[in-house]
Amino acid sequence: MILPGATLGVLGGGQLGRMFTIRARTLGYGVVVLDPDAGSPAGAMADRHLCAAYDDRAALEELARSCAAVTTEFENVPAGVLEQLAGHVPVSPPPHAVAIAQDRILEKRFLAEHGFPTAAWRPVLSAADLADAATLGAPAILKTSRFGYDGKGQISVERVEELATAQQRLRGVACVFERRLALECELSVVLARGRDGALVAFPPAENVHRGGILETSTIPARVPAQLAQSAAELAAAVATALDYVGVLGVELFVADGGRLYVNELAPRPHNSGHFTLDATATDQFEQQVRALCGLPLGSPVLLSPATMINLLGDAWVGGEPRWEEAFARPGVKLHLYGKREPRPGRKMGHLTCLAATADASFHLAHETLQALERR
Ligand code: ADP
Ligand code: MG
Repeated sequence: MILPGATLGVLGGGQLGRMFTIRARTLGYGVVVLDPDAGSPAGAMADRHLCAAYDDRAALEELARSCAAVTTEFENVPAGVLEQLAGHVPVSPPPHAVAIAQDRILEKRFLAEHGFPTAAWRPVLSAADLADAATLGAPAILKTSRFGYDGKGQISVERVEELATAQQRLRGVACVFERRLALECELSVVLARGRDGALVAFPPAENVHRGGILETSTIPARVPAQLAQSAAELAAAVATALDYVGVLGVELFVADGGRLYVNELAPRPHNSGHFTLDATATDQFEQQVRALCGLPLGSPVLLSPATMINLLGDAWVGGEPRWEEAFARPGVKLHLYGKREPRPGRKMGHLTCLAATADASFHLAHETLQALERR
């Protein structure tokens, strides 16, 4: 066990790294952040910010030397970097799991090999694969295999005749061509798994996306109890098959009359798990610390129904939001990530809205966001 007083390293300095850093420091650990951005949200909270590229040799050596264990807040660390670090210090999530989760083709192959349901898909590595992919039919979505997030790197294909143009628009990079499902709803399960295989899942969240970006997560999900149970079991089976250690976000689709499909895996805390900062006995960042340090995992019990609503840069168009509207509402908890530039679609913060029922929390979230915005 790595106990408080030790120093932990995190690759990546965005909001996920920031919330990890705050939690780890609250628990008495030191934190070193590696991120190339001098103004990174996590760097500002850390004991030390190594401002360098993720593959900077000297910075990685320093991280390995000064930290008792290292984790990551994002999946796009260059392949090999985690592997290299793992030769010197304990690293979680495991490099092999990050390699799978950062590449949609490897991810979908892994899911298929283990019999986990996904939307029908084909790999498109080059123009030579277009004819085979077109047999899948439409409507469908062409997604870059790597580096996509918040719906970026995706093109909707309404008719297969549009596929070749879509592939060119994505500059011919490796892609996944995937049938678009008629979604009944989206769920996600954030879970933690220890080195000993112990697994603790938070209650499934019901997610609404707008323009490819997560808008709200509501807990408990307003779906039949049996479906929520199946979602939790499916996510746990995926984590176990991956031999995962750390916090994992499993995004799920519900379609075809209540059937579950795995959408994608995030080898880190997940935006849809932010409600745990205010609504569960242990939050996802504490679980990340616990899994990394070999501590027992904490209780995921839900203390109150909640809706997390993201604060995107769009909320700043009319000026600084009216924060007093958030503070005026009991049960509304404000989280801001310390980003200076509020660009449209950029995640600037979130609200967790606690209420007596999931419906009431969902309503409170939208009502508060509207009141905040100066329009
Ligand atoms: P990202 O990495 O950007 O989160 P996702 O693959 O999760 O990419 O897609 C973002 C969102 O787009 C999903 O949460 C869902 O709302 C929608 N979407 C993606 N793939 C499909 C699909 N096959 N069928 C229906 N909706 C989809
Ligand atoms: Mg997603």
